[in-house]
Amino acid sequence: MRIGFIGVGHMGLLMCANLVKAGHAVRAYDVAAASLAQAVAAGAARAQSVADCAAQADAVITMLPSSPHVRSVYGGHSGVIAHAKPGTLLVDSSTIDPLTAREVAFDARARGLAMVDAPVSGGTAGAEAGTLTFMVGGSGADYEAARPLLACMGRNIVHCGASGNGQVAKLCNNMMLAVGMIATSEAMTLAAKLGMDPKVFAGIVNTSSGRCWSSDTYNPYPGVLEGVPASRGYAGGFGADLMLKDLSLVTEAARTARVPVLMGAVAQQVYQKHSADGHGGKDFSSVILQYLKG
Ligand code: NAD
Repeated sequence: MRIGFIGVGHMGLLMCANLVKAGHAVRAYDVAAASLAQAVAAGAARAQSVADCAAQADAVITMLPSSPHVRSVYGGHSGVIAHAKPGTLLVDSSTIDPLTAREVAFDARARGLAMVDAPVSGGTAGAEAGTLTFMVGGSGADYEAARPLLACMGRNIVHCGASGNGQVAKLCNNMMLAVGMIATSEAMTLAAKLGMDPKVFAGIVNTSSGRCWSSDTYNPYPGVLEGVPASRGYAGGFGADLMLKDLSLVTEAARTARVPVLMGAVAQQVYQKHSADGHGGKDFSSVILQYLKG
């Protein structure tokens, strides 16, 4: 398949490389010359612009920072929707707000294009290994059309329902993750400061009702688990600033749906403080530093 790949940053570059490895003819575009050069080194051809990338593709995949970037790449005179041939499949894997995803898909369909939102979980490790989870929003037919392509980059490909629902799944999951990580951080710190061995406490939690992914797989307390960011100074992993972005998107989506998300809103503020304290580039489990430092 002739694939246009727009946005070859941390995630996009690795996803693009897996499409090349699977034998697809990939043309990449990125506003950052250094990122585009890396995609070319990984075997993609160099597109000159968004329009050029879209015009010569059977499918276009985008992996962009957030909603304004998606609007600008898909919309307007020089955007994907104006330049893709009718019948082209459009896949946006960026994490953005569900409303923008629905509006862009609506505009695409009006021009005879197929479109799904397909945000991912699994981070750069999953992108490199080709084991990402894709949460897909769109019609059943568009999901089926996208599935073989997504299978080159991921392992779990889940149809979440209509356009925008992939983003809904992604954001609501990450809200739970953030709240769980903060709760784990508070409990681990308190138990340790009240005199418990953090490893013993984590062992009890992990066979008790407090167990969650943040306690048993990604524990934020240094030295409790090996091979997690907490055991290497919170380097790598999923950046606290990316979590803050997702929490800001989800609390805004909750406002439009008039659903109170009290814990989500507190989590958003905790991560905002963490970012303001200069920790935005560290893994999101570093939020425990807000408690450990006291
Ligand atoms: P990134 O900033 O490394 O990459 C985004 C790329 O898009 C950059 O190379 C940038 O130059 C390019 N870009 C921006 N505007 C553009 C435009 N108008 N035209 C062409 N290229 C443009 O971000 P990332 O870490 O790869 O994340 C991408 C998306 O995936 C985000 O929405 C993020 O929330 C989501 N995500 C990231 C991770 C992760 O671990 N990094 C995990 C899951 C989901």
